Amino acid sequence: MGASDGARQGDDGMGASAVDTVASGTSIYDSLGVRTFINAAGSYTRLGGSRMPRVVIDAMRDAALHFVEIDELQVRVGTRIAALTHNEACYVSCGAAASLFVATAACMAGTNPALARQLPDPRGMPTRVVTYRAHRNPYDYAVRTLPVELVEIGFPNEVIPAAEWELPHALTEGTAAVLYTVGGWTSPGALPLEQVIEMAHRAGVPVIVDAAAQLPPRENLWRFTGMGADLVIFSGGKDLCGPQSSGLILGRRDLIEACALVGAPHHGIGRPLKVGKEELVGLCAAVEWYMGRDEDARTRWAEQLVAQLAMRLSGPEIQVERRFPNEAGQLVARAHVRFTDPDGAARGARAVALLQAGQPSIEVGASEVAGGFYVNPMTVEQDEVDVLLDRVCAVAREVCA
Ligand SMILES: *Cc1c(COP(=O)(O)O)cnc(C)c1O
Repeated sequence: MGASDGARQGDDGMGASAVDTVASGTSIYDSLGVRTFINAAGSYTRLGGSRMPRVVIDAMRDAALHFVEIDELQVRVGTRIAALTHNEACYVSCGAAASLFVATAACMAGTNPALARQLPDPRGMPTRVVTYRAHRNPYDYAVRTLPVELVEIGFPNEVIPAAEWELPHALTEGTAAVLYTVGGWTSPGALPLEQVIEMAHRAGVPVIVDAAAQLPPRENLWRFTGMGADLVIFSGGKDLCGPQSSGLILGRRDLIEACALVGAPHHGIGRPLKVGKEELVGLCAAVEWYMGRDEDARTRWAEQLVAQLAMRLSGPEIQVERRFPNEAGQLVARAHVRFTDPDGAARGARAVALLQAGQPSIEVGASEVAGGFYVNPMTVEQDEVDVLLDRVCAVAREVCA
């Protein structure tokens, strides 16, 4: 067990500690000429998502050395993850976006293999997917790729959120599902999830919840299904620290069976969304690891990092503010840094560029304020903290000089 193994248990109060960030080296990226960096932005697909803990890497390596029947593995992994997360059933897909596609197709075809095979021809299947305009986002391409009609209700920023008659009215014959998105960035204008579930179920319509980034807290893995949501989706490659191309669908047994029918290795509309044995096993190991993580220690660790940064950086020209929860709605503090003088926007932009170009390279999060940026501890390891704080302070001094 190396230092990070202890950290992974949270017994020394460290944060993510998913990897041996020093010892693991970056040789493959060096040889490709690809820049690596300290990620103080957060868990973003375009920045590599997250880093896998040793236990996950080991599980994937082991998985890669044997032949297995994918159907059998999918069922066993699903059973294990469902038990770990207090759910009825689970299907592993190759990302949360892929999960949105598979879950929607499952709600259309159900457990009828002939209908599953018939897609993309939707005859005889429900094709309406009802969603709030306030929840529209670029991930809903994954749903709209199917032969569905996206039925939008409500309006973003409606003062009185979407009138209560609107959803029942939209749940007509031929409605496959309600798509409900949970995130820190959704607009007002949607009814609360509990109410949506109740209305949908009264009409016999399942509810798919896109909760891709709603971790931590880990309770969310069973909170939304506990409310009655039929299928709930999480990304495996964000805070779960599973393989970057993995995703979880949790929920109702019959609908999970329907997911398996439309998904790979079965031929049909879901076949391009292949999940490898390595991803299946890797996500299983990641969920197990995640369930054992000390979330309180991690929360405190993030608070400390934010407080340290504020203490070292705040001054007449620099404002550092704690922001909580973060932009995804995750319960981890982050710091917003802003240069307050009239030249602030240009200084901030220069600071971000200098951090990127520096040694080591550092990525910070984009801000809604010109010249501002975020330092997000979620994807930072303890052994990166000193250099991160030193660099941010040095760069701030440089652009203010
Ligand atoms: C990140 C995200 C997704 C996509 O997750 P992947 O695992 O990268 O496919 C979908 N929906 C929401 C709300 C997300 O935040």
